[in-house]
Amino acid sequence: MSRSKKVKCGKCGKQIDTDDQFCGYCGEENQSYDPASKKGTGKTAQRNRLQFRVLITVFIIAIVVAAYYAVFVAKLL
Ligand SMILES: [Zn+2]
Repeated sequence: MSRSKKVKCGKCGKQIDTDDQFCGYCGEENQSYDPASKKGTGKTAQRNRLQFRVLITVFIIAIVVAAYYAVFVAKLL
């Protein structure tokens, strides 16, 4: 799902991706490096992390509510 394009390395002339910051053959910095082509996956990962955090928060709240409810019921009995 990468939007990367193939470009020629300015030093060795090998085919490299625009989302590669450095040439994988000679290590030269990729002049056509396009971080935007990697943005999509980065944003997805960030969103997944956020969803995970929300899930954990909801889980903790559920436990606290359950514990509070258990104490409340125990006091009634
Ligand atoms: Zn190169």
